[in-house]
Amino acid sequence: MNDIITMGIDVGSTTAKCVIMKNGNEILEKSLIPYGIGTTGPERAVQQVLDRSGFSLDDFSYIIATGYGRRICETADSEMSELSCHAKGARFLFPDAGTAIDIGGQDAKVMRIGSGGMLEDFVMNDKCAAGTGRFLDVMARILELNVEDLGKTGALSENPAEISSTCTVFAESEVISQLAQGTPRPDIIGGINRSVAVRVSGLAKRVGVVPQVVMSGGVAQNDGVRHALEKELGVEIYASPLSQYAGAIGAALFAFSKKTGN
Ligand code: ADP
Repeated sequence: MNDIITMGIDVGSTTAKCVIMKNGNEILEKSLIPYGIGTTGPERAVQQVLDRSGFSLDDFSYIIATGYGRRICETADSEMSELSCHAKGARFLFPDAGTAIDIGGQDAKVMRIGSGGMLEDFVMNDKCAAGTGRFLDVMARILELNVEDLGKTGALSENPAEISSTCTVFAESEVISQLAQGTPRPDIIGGINRSVAVRVSGLAKRVGVVPQVVMSGGVAQNDGVRHALEKELGVEIYASPLSQYAGAIGAALFAFSKKTGN
């Protein structure tokens, strides 16, 4: 039997991710371009996996697009909701996952995952930057840091600062005022991470937290937020180096199902 090669494309608000899978169980190649919907990011992500893998578009049995910009992706055969794809992808990365927390560039979602990796229930925050990657990106800019450094530096915090505003614009002023008062930067970052965790744990409690709890989306790489969430929810939370690809992985898995019915 010939291998079934599928592609999942996640057209996010800030990044584009693309994954190639073989037979619905093996990741052959992946790419991430830090530009999302409305940019050349999605096309470049597709081109990058093709170049890296040596495949051409004709080699794919099926291609599914997901994410915020999935409807304007011309490469895909069809599109699928990012909620279903994140739940499916999280289960692929963590076979025992019962809850997936996806914190992306512009929204945060908590998904309860049922048997077979199907989405059972979810809650979503997409109207406000607080509790999302956008909030963290804004704060990193004020602190002259890369978002990659927020986790490491925040881990040094002994006494997280109080960032009480739930609004990104007001929280930005609070951070500036903390800087003016000479609050140690790790404590400011600890406060920022905790602020995201408080916001997202509120969503998680609404949907119900079923272990194993895992993170998907780019903010999964921020250990400071992950640890702050663990504190807020009182459970261990798992992340994988592939967490940011969970949506694209889910899309590639659904593409396999489309072709095979499995
Ligand atoms: P979307 O799919 O909505 O475009 P992603 O799931 O790709 O978003 O997540 C993007 C967010 O992830 C960014 O806003 C940033 O805050 C965060 N992020 C990305 N890479 C890292 C990293 N290495 N460390 C910490 N945070 C990161």
